[in-house]
Amino acid sequence: MASLEDLNKYHHLIEGVRGLSYLETARRILSNLTAPCIEGPEGDPDYLKALYVIGAKRVPIGRGCSASLEELGVFENLGPPASMVFDNPLSLYIRLKPTPLVRSRYILPEGSRLWLKLEWYNPYSLSVKDRPAFEILSRIEGKADGGEVGDASSANFGVALSSIALLKGFKARVYLPRRAEEFGSLVPRLMGAWVTVDPNAESTVHLISRVRREARQAGFTHVNQFFNDANFEAHMRGLARELFYQSRVAGLRLGGVAGSLGTSGHMAAVSFYLQSAYRGVETVLAQPAEGENIPGIRRVETGMLWINILDIDHTVYDVTLDEAMEMVREIASRDGILINPSGGAAVAALIKHLRGRESGGRRLDYIVIVPDTGYKYLGYVKKYLEESSRGGD
Ligand code: PLP
Repeated sequence: MASLEDLNKYHHLIEGVRGLSYLETARRILSNLTAPCIEGPEGDPDYLKALYVIGAKRVPIGRGCSASLEELGVFENLGPPASMVFDNPLSLYIRLKPTPLVRSRYILPEGSRLWLKLEWYNPYSLSVKDRPAFEILSRIEGKADGGEVGDASSANFGVALSSIALLKGFKARVYLPRRAEEFGSLVPRLMGAWVTVDPNAESTVHLISRVRREARQAGFTHVNQFFNDANFEAHMRGLARELFYQSRVAGLRLGGVAGSLGTSGHMAAVSFYLQSAYRGVETVLAQPAEGENIPGIRRVETGMLWINILDIDHTVYDVTLDEAMEMVREIASRDGILINPSGGAAVAALIKHLRGRESGGRRLDYIVIVPDTGYKYLGYVKKYLEESSRGGD
């Protein structure tokens, strides 16, 4: 049997690994559900990184042996303390996991079941964006230029960055595009971050070169969520691993996952992980239809990294804001919970996907990633209700 050693001891080696080639090894481990032993961790940083990114806690050491994912600690989730007492705000992030996966009462075409992964249960930005902000800042701890970090954000990442920067002792700078939701500037300001809304920036990607330039001039670290692999890797270790664990515990017959795209970090990771572990899991992606604005998400052709460079099977559907809000209403009226517009867009894309194909008669389980709570977008809810009551006159 392999002797197992704590992976935490090898972070200095993992940090030196560049590029994404170790993902081939990660895919092999996930598809075999076992990892081969190595003779000594020091000589194999790529292998350690593969283990780290799938969420393993231990390294199997020995000759000619292997270890199961359970033995590696991939399914070990700390879980919240029974008392729900936390001795500091940072442990809220670490210990309040996994976020809930809840079966919706909405029935999909063919009687398939819909499951919602509620990412607003992340404590700081109440969104999926706590995950990359936490991983990125954990990796640069003590190394930020001038003790300051900055990035472009559509709203949520800036909030997450401001909170976690504050807790880890950095200053934060947040750059927002013209149409950013108001909470994206108000909340970081309240937390002491420096915030600017650029009236000339149509979307977040238009701000990247400005942030890079100002980081050089003012001497802060540009964390660059669009190109920083810690974004994708945070979702592999967190969101994707949790879904793998939760789908096993719930005994799901997983047909696919659906979601939406900003940097593509979370959907690339969820797809890569689950498609490695289960054969035939589909990825369904929502993008705003031409000329439409759905807060937090963009069209694929506006440029995004991981979903394009990794080997991921996926289908993209155009969704209008109206279609997204229609699904926000469907879920609210059936489940009594308020998902956000990009979550609604993901449900709408999944329904388009399932309606458009031959009936296989197989009832499967589908997971939709809900990035955020609808309570931040009540202006959209108000407009939707006004327009639908006008339409009904
Ligand atoms: N939905 C919302 C509300 C978001 O704020 C974001 C990203 O900011 C996304 C979806 C897309 O997430 P990702 O950047 O991981 O693609």
